[in-house]
Amino acid sequence: MPQPIAIPALSDNYVWLIRSDHDNACAIVDPGEAAPVIEAIRQQGLEPVAVLITHRHHDHVGGLKEIRSTWPDIPVYGPAEEPVDGVTDEVKDGSRVELDALDADFDVIATPGHTLGHIVFHGRGILLCGDTLFAGGCGRVFEGTNDQMHRALKALAALPRQTICCCGHEYTLANLEFARAVEPDNEDLAERQRQARALRDAGEPTVPFELGGELRTNPFMRCDEPAVHEAAETHAGRSLETAAEVFAVLRDWKNSF
Ligand SMILES: [Zn+2]
Repeated sequence: MPQPIAIPALSDNYVWLIRSDHDNACAIVDPGEAAPVIEAIRQQGLEPVAVLITHRHHDHVGGLKEIRSTWPDIPVYGPAEEPVDGVTDEVKDGSRVELDALDADFDVIATPGHTLGHIVFHGRGILLCGDTLFAGGCGRVFEGTNDQMHRALKALAALPRQTICCCGHEYTLANLEFARAVEPDNEDLAERQRQARALRDAGEPTVPFELGGELRTNPFMRCDEPAVHEAAETHAGRSLETAAEVFAVLRDWKNSF
């Protein structure tokens, strides 16, 4: 399996390098900043073969121009549904990105919500989830609707549980604090919070993370769970009929948490 490497960038972003398991080829994911990425690639003797872009926000594409001038010949795959300067190959839901040098194909899944054109890439046991799914949380719904974001997360929840998720930010501790407010009795969540705190205390990233852990601890992926449903009803002060309504209450609750 290709190896994901997290490169901290800007204040709390991660740029990802997906490195081949048999040579020095790598793909660059969401280069919000160029300098730390170029430095990591040179230090580790890697050879970039492609750039993958999940959405158009500056903290995900701000370094793209410099990456392109450093490696002018590599393709840049990005969302067809929103404009990103520097994308050479537009992809959309159902597209497949074949990276022969990494011996990996990535399927593109549309996940509108955070932005309307947001896409994620899934292949070889890896999910490049941008600002749709975070460890213990999910992206803010800036452009789409809560319903769209809820459907996007449900689609991701259907992927294999061992999937290794590579997200765009280090938001884990704040997300888990909110998650515990929703589910104070979830023991898996309490344990996860302990582990995440220990990692951050040691200066380590809490990413990447396994999808299966999200299904046990991320409230935004647990809208069908009775405890989450009940907590959302208590917070909203009214009864909620559907998991989509639960999601919408959680998203608003988190925004002001
Ligand atoms: Zn974003």
